[in-house]
Amino acid sequence: MSLAPDVHPGPGRSVGSPAATAPLLEVSGLKAYYQMRFFGISREVRAVDDVTFTIRRNEIYGLAGESSSGKSTLIKTIARAIRPPLNVVGGTVAFTFEDGRQDIYAMSPAQVAAIRWSRLSYVTQGSMNVLNPVRRIRSTFVDFAARHLGGSRRDFLTTVERHLGRLSLDPRVLDAYPHELSGGMRQRLTIALATICRPEFIIADEPTTALDVVVQKDVLAMLREVQQEMGSSILFVTHDMAVHANLTDRLGIMYAGRLVEEGPTRKVFQRPLHPYTAHLIASLPRLGDDMRKTGLPGAPPSLADPPTGCRFHPRCPSAVGLCREASPPMEELEPGHRVACHVAKAHAEGRRLS
Ligand code: SF4
Repeated sequence: MSLAPDVHPGPGRSVGSPAATAPLLEVSGLKAYYQMRFFGISREVRAVDDVTFTIRRNEIYGLAGESSSGKSTLIKTIARAIRPPLNVVGGTVAFTFEDGRQDIYAMSPAQVAAIRWSRLSYVTQGSMNVLNPVRRIRSTFVDFAARHLGGSRRDFLTTVERHLGRLSLDPRVLDAYPHELSGGMRQRLTIALATICRPEFIIADEPTTALDVVVQKDVLAMLREVQQEMGSSILFVTHDMAVHANLTDRLGIMYAGRLVEEGPTRKVFQRPLHPYTAHLIASLPRLGDDMRKTGLPGAPPSLADPPTGCRFHPRCPSAVGLCREASPPMEELEPGHRVACHVAKAHAEGRRLS
């Protein structure tokens, strides 16, 4: 499969331009809360609470964490795909596309609609969220992408067929209804849909979770190949650490609405600095390892009333007194490797905490 003749480095992309070297996504101090009111009582759920990170051009950034860690809310917020009661209450989300830097929350709805699919696309967990069950696949492609690519309907469909061919998909699937296709085929089609306009940034939310292992491997390989050919960046979200180990270049770990560790994937797996990351990695099954895996005690905290200090302290095997009192900031303890942990920081500085 080669996409090179048509899509590298992408429409209007000039390798070496300032935009090509700037981070593609900059998230700074982002806070997104569910703000509800029941019978006169206000309730605030801090699903994303002061998250800062960047994603470079041409990299796959993984986001991991258990259910309710806030990772799905974070990516919906980055894509500006939110509606009340979820609101952004602080921070910024800025993309540096080829035509300049834009804060997505400073853009008009029309401007956001103009970049959706063409520069920023979103692969969701369930393919049926995107593929309309009562419309043939062809119509879905027309609905989502025709206005971005322009030209006549015939030219557009030729482009779609060529794109499917490059992704080793039979163009005859365009005549099918989604229910006539397997789950793996539908998920491949959502990737084809998300990449037809050659976007600079792709958000993929658990795109392989519902698939069996063999199909999952195929879909991940396809996504990696498309990304490399197009030079796009991907923000890939899954709780499955094995997928992160195989796919992502850098990895961020979320716990209770906050980013707690981030670094090159290989480094994070070889030497996790945060106790929560260490637990996620230790719980992965390994060939020849008969040791019984033990879960973490307790459950993730309520984000409506998170613990004081480090939010992980009620479950942390390394917690000390300071952990209950002060929230640890994210700090770079090794080049490119950031962590939010008092004990890891003290250890890096040769100090002991008690
Ligand atoms: Fe555990 Fe304390 Fe580090 Fe939090 S700051 S992860 S409680 S050691």
